[in-house]
Amino acid sequence: PGIAGLIAGLAVDVPDFPQPGIVFKDLTPLFADGAAFREIVDATVAHYGVGSFDVVAGIEARGFVMAAAMAYAAGVGVVPVRKAGKLPRATHAAQYALEYGSAALEVHTDAFLPGQRVLVVDDVLATGGTAEATLGLVERAGGVVAGLTVMLELEFLGGRQRLAAHPPHALLRV
Ligand code: IMP
Repeated sequence: PGIAGLIAGLAVDVPDFPQPGIVFKDLTPLFADGAAFREIVDATVAHYGVGSFDVVAGIEARGFVMAAAMAYAAGVGVVPVRKAGKLPRATHAAQYALEYGSAALEVHTDAFLPGQRVLVVDDVLATGGTAEATLGLVERAGGVVAGLTVMLELEFLGGRQRLAAHPPHALLRV
C-alpha cells in the first residue's frame, strides 16, 4: 500500500545481473512512470522538508535522476558525485568495496560552500559502501550531511549498520 507498494509493484527483479547469483532490482520503471516518479520525488522531499537542505548530491548514475528532480522541486542546486575520472576539475576521491567488485567515487573539491547542508540520494542502498564513501566525500568537500535517502533499501545486506552516523531514509525496505 502507499508509496512502498508503488515501488514494489514497479521494481523488476533481474536474476544474475550483473553477476551470477545477484538478483538486481531494476528501478528504472519508476522513473519511466510519470505519476510514480512525481510521487517518489515529492515524498522524499516532503520527508526532509523544503528548507532543511541547501543542495542535493546525486550518486552516479541513477542518483542523478532523483537528485535533479528533488533539487528542482525544492528550489536548490544539484551536485554530481561521479565515478572516477569523470569530473574535470580538482576532486576528492574515495575507494570503496561494492556488493560486486570495487569502485571509486569523486566530487569536486569546491562542490559545496562551507557548512552547506547536503541531502545525498541514490536509487538503492545495498551494502552501504557507496553511501558511506559519498558521505565521506561530502564532508571532505566542506558540506554537512543533511540526510541520506534512497528509494529502496536491501536490508539483508546490512548497509544501515555501517551508516549509523546518518541513518538512511528509504521509501521501501525489503
Ligand atoms: P552498495 O554500495 O553495496 O550499497 O551498492 C549500492 C550501489 O550499487 C548504488 O549506487 C546502487 O545504484 C547500486 N546497486 C546495488 N544493488 C543494486 C540493485 O539491486 N539495483 C539497483 N542498483 C543497485
